Amino acid sequence: MSNLIRDPTEIKTWDEEVAVLVVGLGAAGAATALEASRTGAETLVLERAGGGGGTSAMSGGVLYLGGGTPLQQACGFDDSEEDMFKYLMASCGESPDEAKMRLYCEGSVGHYDWLVEQGVPFKQTYYHGCSGEPPSDDGLVWSGSERVHPFCEIAKPAPRGHVPQVENQAGPLLMKQLCAAVDASAARVASNHRCIALVQEPDGHVIGAIAESFGETRAIRATGGVVVTTGGFVLNDRMLEQHRPAALRCKFRVAADGDDGSGIQLGIAAGAATQHMDAVSISLPITQPWGLKRGVMVNAEGQRFIAEDSYYGRLGEWALLHHGGKAWLIVDDAIFEKPEYMPEVAAVGETVAELERELGLPQGGLASTMALYNQHAEAGQDPVFHKNTEYIQPLHSPPFGAFGCAVDDALYAVFTLGGLDTDVDGRVLDPAGDPIAGLYGAGRSTSGLSVGSYSSGLSLGDGTFFGRRAGRTAAKG
Ligand SMILES: Cc1cc2nc3c(=O)[nH]c(=O)nc-3n(C[C@H](O)[C@H](O)[C@H](O)COP(=O)(O)OP(=O)(O)OC[C@H]3O[C@@H](n4cnc5c(N)ncnc54)[C@H](O)[C@@H]3O)c2cc1C
Repeated sequence: MSNLIRDPTEIKTWDEEVAVLVVGLGAAGAATALEASRTGAETLVLERAGGGGGTSAMSGGVLYLGGGTPLQQACGFDDSEEDMFKYLMASCGESPDEAKMRLYCEGSVGHYDWLVEQGVPFKQTYYHGCSGEPPSDDGLVWSGSERVHPFCEIAKPAPRGHVPQVENQAGPLLMKQLCAAVDASAARVASNHRCIALVQEPDGHVIGAIAESFGETRAIRATGGVVVTTGGFVLNDRMLEQHRPAALRCKFRVAADGDDGSGIQLGIAAGAATQHMDAVSISLPITQPWGLKRGVMVNAEGQRFIAEDSYYGRLGEWALLHHGGKAWLIVDDAIFEKPEYMPEVAAVGETVAELERELGLPQGGLASTMALYNQHAEAGQDPVFHKNTEYIQPLHSPPFGAFGCAVDDALYAVFTLGGLDTDVDGRVLDPAGDPIAGLYGAGRSTSGLSVGSYSSGLSLGDGTFFGRRAGRTAAKG
């Protein structure tokens, strides 16, 4: 038996007994604790840091919701569960979990209402800029590739990024409100308590956990269950090496210290299966200001590989995982603007051929790409990657420049999307697909809705949505 698992016979006395023991107080843990305690179940949250928040409090705070939320309606957008479902099934990577996706879309309006009930404010206004976290306190924003080919043909586009009302980064406000709601609930929080092991019966039933606090260990019995909401594993080099080594090349692995995969390892030690451990969100925000979407993105062969107006979560994934992390954004003098998140120009040329030489690209590769692009752009078209007409403009005006979008130069922000395998009610599953009694999970310690081509808001969205379900299930025992 690994030291992550303790046999009940080792426990002389339990220091505490609760119904539901939640491990980790990020967005998923807060939602779990709120719903578990709401049912009347005695709920304790263990948090290894000095207080709640986790990576959720460092995030943009965008929640992906739709299907006609009051905020969407207030901003004049017509959306349906079906369009949201079709977009997400098409855009969330290979084989996302259909049952979870269906429930999420059906329950999205109700989840928005629940967030508002917890005190999360959403200004009833729409941000008119392009996709991403708004630089304003507007509540509704495009946060994915909904308007981009092929998704705009698959589902009617609607903005679904719901952002708590604060200028710029909204994660801190989201967590301030959710943690305040937990404090006001019957759930208790034990900060500076790191869960170091699960207590498991020989038949597999998880009946409690061991926590370490200031050098002392405490055994906590959980009659209903233990819910793992400890976040992802982007700070665990060894796990990244095993599952997605390319992520180690990203400059920006921002996460709370807890994102070291400890909860996933506890679950695995208890016999859990994992899903999509190689799935990562990689943001490459090259196109701010938005006019830079009129540029042409090429790989090391000088070839285009994606519609440049794709959401930055898709751009980063394509550039790093499918094109070796080597890419440039080609602009001409007419569309040149200083980018917000990219380094200075990597090369300049009076002609495309000169630029190509400067960049060391295969002779003729970039020139033929630009010739083809410009030929169709003259007619306002992009039959190769179907960029939105609003961003199509022939690039003829010298000098030509290339912004370096390679992983070694540009901002690639990564976090993990895979984790413990769970059912729609948060039960952690073993490799045969059977629930491990007493063990539940939610948030980034579990496999999420998006298993690729990330749209912003899905992580906080599914973490809180399925956290609530896990809390209710664990409370029933
Ligand atoms: C810069 C940035 C911006 C982002 N913006 C967005 C966004 O706008 N929208 C979105 O949906 N996603 C966003 N994300 C991703 C999102 O923030 C995370 O995926 C999400 O917060 C994970 O939530 P969680 O509750 O699962 O984990 P966390 O919020 O990380 O919480 C896990 C908690 O568990 C604790 N913990 C860990 N191990 C233990 C242990 N063994 N014992 C006790 N406690 C433990 C941790 O200390 C932590 O408090 C962003 C990420 C980054 C890096």
